Amino acid sequence: MRDSDLRERVRARLHDGTLQHNLPMVQPGQQVISTIALVRDMLCSVCGGADPRMKLQYPAGAFYFHNPCYQIWDDERSAPTPSTMPALS
Ligand SMILES: [Zn+2]
Repeated sequence: MRDSDLRERVRARLHDGTLQHNLPMVQPGQQVISTIALVRDMLCSVCGGADPRMKLQYPAGAFYFHNPCYQIWDDERSAPTPSTMPALS
């Protein structure tokens, strides 16, 4: 999957609430992101591919990411909301 396709997907999932905008709240000293060797039977929350390597635990559940997918999510979640496309006249 191309990078631009992944970005589109991340934006759509941020918009519909499938992906979170914020990192999970954690207690001081607690680690936000778990980097894991391999998550069996889990799929990446961005690309849907197998064997994601990172886990973000939210109270409502966990999200899993490949490293590059996480980077894209991290970019997009903090990006300003794009304004609507200018109308062609
Ligand atoms: Zn992925």
